[in-house]
Amino acid sequence: MDNKYDVIVIGAGMSGLAAGIRLAMFGKKVCIVEKHIITGGLNSYYTRSKRDFDVGLHAMTNFVEKGTRKRPLTKLLKQLRIPYDSLELEQQKNSLIHFPDFKLKFNNDFELLLSQISEYFPHEVDGFNKFVEYINEYNEVALDNKTFMAKDVARKFLKDEYLIEMIFCPLLIYGSAWEDDMDFSQFVIMFKSIYLEGFCRPKGGVRTIINLLLNKLEESGCELKFRSEVKNIIKKDGKVKGVVLKKGDILYADKVISSMGHPETIKVLCEEDDLDKETQNNDQRMPKVGPLSFCESIVCLDMKPSQFGIDDTIVFYNNSSQYHYQKPKDLYDNRSAVVCFPNNFTNDDLEEGIARVTFMANYNKWHELEKPLYKEHKSKVLCDSLEIIQSIYEDFSPQVTFSDVFTPTTIKKYTGHFDGTVYGSTDKLRDGKTKTEGLFLCGTDQGFLGIVGSMLSGISMANLHGLME
Ligand SMILES: Cc1cc2nc3c(=O)[nH]c(=O)nc-3n(C[C@H](O)[C@H](O)[C@H](O)COP(=O)(O)OP(=O)(O)OC[C@H]3O[C@@H](n4cnc5c(N)ncnc54)[C@H](O)[C@@H]3O)c2cc1C
Repeated sequence: MDNKYDVIVIGAGMSGLAAGIRLAMFGKKVCIVEKHIITGGLNSYYTRSKRDFDVGLHAMTNFVEKGTRKRPLTKLLKQLRIPYDSLELEQQKNSLIHFPDFKLKFNNDFELLLSQISEYFPHEVDGFNKFVEYINEYNEVALDNKTFMAKDVARKFLKDEYLIEMIFCPLLIYGSAWEDDMDFSQFVIMFKSIYLEGFCRPKGGVRTIINLLLNKLEESGCELKFRSEVKNIIKKDGKVKGVVLKKGDILYADKVISSMGHPETIKVLCEEDDLDKETQNNDQRMPKVGPLSFCESIVCLDMKPSQFGIDDTIVFYNNSSQYHYQKPKDLYDNRSAVVCFPNNFTNDDLEEGIARVTFMANYNKWHELEKPLYKEHKSKVLCDSLEIIQSIYEDFSPQVTFSDVFTPTTIKKYTGHFDGTVYGSTDKLRDGKTKTEGLFLCGTDQGFLGIVGSMLSGISMANLHGLME
């Protein structure tokens, strides 16, 4: 049967692509169904005014040198049989955690962060070293890890709340589904991938990663169907049977791996016998929808940051001693921001200066806006973004040659994630297993996120549920 597969993978984001490649590599008949006409999901790209932009790439985390064994990046490249050199990775110059009273620099050499802590928080050096030892020994990827909050653990080692806020700031904004704190396993993943390993960028940006994945997909024989939105996942007698596409086709498989998100997956799950009924029966409790989304300004400049003596790659800016990592009450929160200069990796392959400024944002507030107001508020986001850059670097005065702003509604439109959530639900399923036999999650709501994390999630769920079982 042409429409019967061993495994159907929902979504051609990073995790779905990685899962599809891995399964097809070992002879499984696999089909990836993607609602859009482009791959990458949250981590995609677009072209405007003849310029190529990345959507979800400030930096790739988990940088390690070629040949480093058993680290997330090298493990993932090995499993997908992608040569390290093909990414042509450029390392960050350095990044900055920018609070009013202290500025902590870090780069891909952990010694820099240690020396900054000993300079500004000498009373915490002992505690911090012990905390790092504890983090190093913790197995953050064990699929049976329980969820408990990371700040409680940090406070056993560190007493200075200012330092705790500063250390948590980049880790929260780059990967927490929880407000103001995060699950400890996720904290350890982020700590290792950002502070102990570090930031890098593939030459050519996200297209390089996606093109490598697409070549592998073709080589492996995995089928990829675009414009194929899943309307329903069908089950019978507690077991998954396949998917119904919005355009009407039905595809069958005993295993379905979904990267849509946890609540998004459960929402479309329905009994085969209920398919034609107007109200479909889905008695499962809905997992929580994640609260956190972003708006981002992308600004092209007539000069590069280095021409103003700026060599920071990513700045984690916050305007008080406390970091408010929360869904904002208003459209967005300009008390903190992430400022990224993609030019400031070791070899700048970009033709013009670029700055990206990200704020936490509230999906519902953006969703309620009528079109003219929506446009007006996007302009305010842009103004605030430029103001924040100016407040960090007083002499930075290039001309803006092009700008674009995306909001949580853009994220919802292009990924289907409820409320434009970026780090997914707080109801993660670490082992990927849903209550329906044969239906698994991969990607953000399995618990591994970011570019490297989501690919590893796809690989591990494919290995565990598609190849080993
Ligand atoms: C603004 C922004 C900046 C970021 N910056 C970074 C960064 O610098 N570094 C980093 O490592 N990570 C970054 N991330 C996070 C990273 O992009 C994500 O964690 C990762 O891409 C998630 O991948 P995924 O496969 O889990 O999910 P997704 O990318 O969400 O993929 C899900 C796919 O499923 C498809 N889909 C959804 N519903 C359906 C349906 N019903 N039928 C068919 N297909 C469907 C979607 O179209 C999508 O392609 C950023 C994200 C954003 C939004």
